[in-house]
Amino acid sequence: MSGAMNFKNCGSVLVTGASRGLGLQIVDSLASGGFSPGKIIATTREPERAQKLQELAQKHPNIHIITLDVVNQESIEGSVEEVGQLVQQEGLNCLINNAGINVVADFHTVTAEMMIENFRTNAVAPLMITKAFLPLLKQAASRGGAGGTGSMGIQRAAVINMTSLLGSVELNWGERANNFKWYPYRTSKSALNMVSRCMAVDLEPNGILCMAIHPGWVRTDMGGSQAPLSPEESVSSVLSVIGGLTEKDNGSFLNFTGEVLPW
Ligand code: NDP
Repeated sequence: MSGAMNFKNCGSVLVTGASRGLGLQIVDSLASGGFSPGKIIATTREPERAQKLQELAQKHPNIHIITLDVVNQESIEGSVEEVGQLVQQEGLNCLINNAGINVVADFHTVTAEMMIENFRTNAVAPLMITKAFLPLLKQAASRGGAGGTGSMGIQRAAVINMTSLLGSVELNWGERANNFKWYPYRTSKSALNMVSRCMAVDLEPNGILCMAIHPGWVRTDMGGSQAPLSPEESVSSVLSVIGGLTEKDNGSFLNFTGEVLPW
């Protein structure tokens, strides 16, 4: 069975940054695949501007659009309230921290403000969002997942952080180090990797899986037109990997192909 099929057993998935790019594609692929979860909670900071997402939601009644600005604590708490009403006692099965920004700057142009701005969105926000949604994740995890088997995975409760290969400290060496000398983005994704690892340790006792995934280099606003992968190709692989996660993947850093990446 393909991993993506496992979304059939997943009651609810929440995606941040669903207005465009990979977030929008995740919502689209989940809604239109034969493995659609019960509730797809598509969050965006400005729903009124997310035209394509609105059109998708018109077609698929299991898409629920909720406002969430990932760097605004009040907005985070408001979204938890709304999601709680939506999922009720079922809780939230899968939280995908996808929203991200790339503040491009090299050694010569980088400023403290640029570093902090990129950190806030890419590393701090996923941590604050996961903390805020913890009661709903715990609620889902305590139900034991599909069939009440109690094994870890998206059918029970999971936090997926959309990271980047560019956050790998080990891979930023030799020939590879000559490209993408982006201090704010790279360090924010390294920090997100450590946040993922720390949360995997802390949430494991609750039966909540946590991991980080690299989606490949993808043709989105962020990835640019030169990227080799289309959003459909990337998301199809990413969903397959996420759908197949088990205990052994807790605290992992995986490529969209499913292979383990070096930290
Ligand atoms: P895009 O720039 O195309 O989209 C970014 C998304 O994040 C938008 O929906 C944007 O919303 C949202 N966002 C940014 N800031 C906030 C915020 N404060 N609150 C809510 N939403 C916000 O990027 P991609 O789709 O390409 O990237 C998605 C994720 O994948 C990112 O984390 C990125 O780092 C990662 N990634 C992407 C790669 C690629 O090649 N594309 C490679 C490796 C990792 P809005 O429309 O409101 O601005």
